[in-house]
Amino acid sequence: MAHSAHLTHTARLRALQAYLDARRLDALVVSAPVNIAYLSGFAGSAGLLLVTREGLFLLVDGRYDVAARESLVAGRLGPVTVERVDGRYDQALASVIAREGVRHVGLEAGNVTVATLSAWRRAATGVEWEPTERVVEGQRLIKDAAEIETFRRAAKTLDYMASRLGTIVARGQTEQAVASGIDAALVDAGFQRPAFSTIVASGPNSALPHARPTSRRLEAGDLVVLDFGGVLDGYCVDLTRMAAVGSPTASAMALYEGVREANASAVRAVRPGVPASDIDRAARAVLEAKNLGEAFRHATGHGLGLEVHEAPRLARPDSEPQERLEEGMVFTIEPGAYVEGIGGVRLEDDVLVTPGGCEVLTKAPHDLLRV
Ligand code: ZN
Ligand code: ZN
Repeated sequence: MAHSAHLTHTARLRALQAYLDARRLDALVVSAPVNIAYLSGFAGSAGLLLVTREGLFLLVDGRYDVAARESLVAGRLGPVTVERVDGRYDQALASVIAREGVRHVGLEAGNVTVATLSAWRRAATGVEWEPTERVVEGQRLIKDAAEIETFRRAAKTLDYMASRLGTIVARGQTEQAVASGIDAALVDAGFQRPAFSTIVASGPNSALPHARPTSRRLEAGDLVVLDFGGVLDGYCVDLTRMAAVGSPTASAMALYEGVREANASAVRAVRPGVPASDIDRAARAVLEAKNLGEAFRHATGHGLGLEVHEAPRLARPDSEPQERLEEGMVFTIEPGAYVEGIGGVRLEDDVLVTPGGCEVLTKAPHDLLRV
């Protein structure tokens, strides 16, 4: 396990060094904590990673120094050299840069403030700084074998948790109580923590796509949106399933059937090479044909990884520059329909793009949970 973690990080480092070569950069300063975790395995909230053609230098202060060295010895980190920061990060970075003799250094433009860059310029005189965009994020977009294995385990854990919803969702309970029950069951199932604030939206609240759980009690006639996810070994999975309290009305059932069909149609559209917007189109076309186009008020899906919302975004073609799907991407498919007076329905699954289409990682049945 530890050995394979090391190999994984080495492969990620090699890919980044190939990028440095192509861009004629001597080094890249990685400052986004999630990118530092991806490249080195270090999961602290503060630190800097200097990636050069020769190696990886992890700069951490006294809060993390010991933990980082222990992780290194235990084989949980990539091939890093841990550099303890005793004073200021800018000065520590400048001294490692000077020692390693690098001059043309990239930085993550999306993560470095103007103030931080000014401090780096003052500390490291003679360095030519070059802004880069979404370099590590681009690497993170395509999941490697270790990540795919983690996703399969995480999805299985989420399916197990979903199989327990019948014991958690009950008539008369508040949305908040149901959400707490789901959070506890996620941890119980083996997740480190919920991946985001669990959504439980009942009755009229279900018609709001991003409702927060309230003190409203579940009552007969409600549709209930249950949207939850967990973090396993750092990776986020995300699922939405539906409950109905008592007998759903015919219009509620029509909404549910429409969304179920939209979910299936989107899943069938996934394959390498197609624009991400085609998946959104496939889901939207089903709902539009049922006069529910206006009721589908968000994008069809988002990438998953160390963060719960990553690239790619599966949305209308006019809202983003269009990415094409590639083998190894992992994202959600989550069409929904929200109609005031009837309620809302969303069905969300997590999929992995494969050479021939996709593997639906989450296998929990779509059936309406009757409570
Ligand atoms: Zn979700
Ligand atoms: Zn989602």
